[in-house]
This record gives sequence, structure tokens and C-alpha cells, in this order.
Amino acid sequence: MTDWHFPAGQRFQCSQCGLCCRGWRIHVDAQTAARLKGTPEARRLEHKDGRVFVRKDAEQRCSFLTPTNRCELHDRAKPAGCRQFPFRLTRTPDGVFVGASFFCPSIQANEGLDLSEFQPELEEAVAHLPIWGAEGLRVWNECRLKWADYRRLESHILEHPLLEEGLAQALWSLAQFSLNPGRNLNEYLQGAQAALEPPDEPLVLMEHHWYENLMRHLGEKPDRRTLQAPAAPLERYLRAVLQRKGLINRRALLGNLALLFLVPRFYRHWNTTLGSPERAIQECENKIVTHPNNLDDLVERMSDDFRELDPV
Ligand code: SF4
Repeated sequence: MTDWHFPAGQRFQCSQCGLCCRGWRIHVDAQTAARLKGTPEARRLEHKDGRVFVRKDAEQRCSFLTPTNRCELHDRAKPAGCRQFPFRLTRTPDGVFVGASFFCPSIQANEGLDLSEFQPELEEAVAHLPIWGAEGLRVWNECRLKWADYRRLESHILEHPLLEEGLAQALWSLAQFSLNPGRNLNEYLQGAQAALEPPDEPLVLMEHHWYENLMRHLGEKPDRRTLQAPAAPLERYLRAVLQRKGLINRRALLGNLALLFLVPRFYRHWNTTLGSPERAIQECENKIVTHPNNLDDLVERMSDDFRELDPV
């Protein structure tokens, strides 16, 4: 029997704001594409790089979105990704971890039913998911981390009284471990605080350097001021990403952790430029954590730099 883990106190109720139906590319899974084949709706699909996507209108909205923010495919052939949004499911040796995208305003506002109420409708999706961590997790190139050690790394961050400091220590420890995988990760975690003294060097310098690089890559002007922003939404978001196991899928663990380490800097920047912590978290979720696909080269270079960091 599979264990299910839900984030404590997280609620959701779709308000049909339509936000998740615009902006990004909407992928159509093979089963849904087959169901739509030969129907008039198939003309609104496009094929790219061997995958199928929904065409968007001039305002970048999904072409199946009605003026009242309803989905034309809702009862017939809604793509799997759309059916699942905003839920995030990650299958691991310890069971299924359920989280949700903070791009969704209802998740940020924490309105509606407890996420655990949605378990029956999520069960079908889980059977097809890979089990991340069963054979260790890829840290970088050939270096792998055992699942139990990953859980230790995660606990180190979550139990640290200052979450951002815990993230910095975890990043330094994992980067060092990737250079010496024969050693015990725990030793690095225990020595991280001393290794990172004084606290403003050198991870902070690296943080600024990569924040500026990524900002330029995203086509935005980096902000060099020391920026303040409410801490509670950021802390809640970082904890949610860790709880939903957002570090372990897609790319190598070190790259994911490096991106998460940079999220606070981006959050403060977007809070200043957009004037709202909620908007800032949405940007972090969309551009840094969930859809950093066009950042792959940069993330690779960034991970290399963090691996070469020797602050001792
Ligand atoms: S963003 Fe959230 S609330 Fe808005 S339509 Fe999508 S799932 Fe519903």
C-alpha cells in the first residue's frame, strides 16, 4: 500500500481565474491527443519536436479557454497536465508526496478543501510515475546520493532556525560531497557552518553573481540594492517546495538546490519590481523552480561554480 504525504494545512479550491491557462506551453499527452484525433478540436493542436501542444490565441491564452474561463475540453478530453494542475505528485521510496503550484492564487491564499481531500482523484495519475530515489539520486554527473542521505540533507534545511542559512549550508555540503563522494555527507553538513564563516563570504558573492547572470538571461534588469520583503510568504514557499520533493526530479540535485538557494534573491527583486509578495512568489515558481528549462546551460555552469567553491 502506498503512503501519501500531504502538506499540513494546505488548502485548494479552483476559483476559475484562468491564470493557469495562459502564458506557458500547454502539453497534450499522447492519450488525449489520440482521443482528439479527427475531431474539429484537433485543428487547435500543434506538433513540435515530437510532442503535441495546444495552440494559443493572440493574448497567449489556451485556445480551449472560453470567455468565462471554462475549459471546452473539461468533460471530454482535458490533457493530463491540466487535469492535475495545481497538484504536484512525486513518488519516492517513502511514498507519494503531494504538493501544489504556488502559481495558483488559491494555493497562495490557502482557500478551500484540505489537499488530502483530493487523494481519490489523484490516485490514477500516481501509478504511472517513476519512483525517484529508489536507486539513489543523481547529484552531479556520476555522483549519486542515497535516499536516506537525501532525507538528511532535506531535514538539515527544514530544521535550521534560519531557512536561508540552512539552504546555503546544504548547497555547500552537497557541492563538496560531489567532489568527494566517498566521504559522508553528514560530515559536511556538520562542518558547514564553520566552513561558511564569515557568513557574507563567499556563497553570498556567488549568489549575487548568479542572480545577475540569471536576471540578464531572463531579460530583466538586475537590482543591486539590498532589498527587503516580507519573510513569511518566502518561508512558506521554500518549505512547500521541499515538502513536495521539488529538489529531486527533473535535473541533477545540485542544480535544483542551487536554483532554490537563489530563490530568496529573486523573490526580493520581484517583490520590489512587481509590488506584491504573491506576484513575486508566482514569478519564482514559474521562471525559477518549475519552468527553468531554457536555463539548463546556465544551471550547469552555476553548478560547476558551486562545486569549485572552496570556502574553507
Ligand atoms: S490558477 Fe488555480 S484557481 Fe486559477 S484556474 Fe488555475 S487552478 Fe483554478
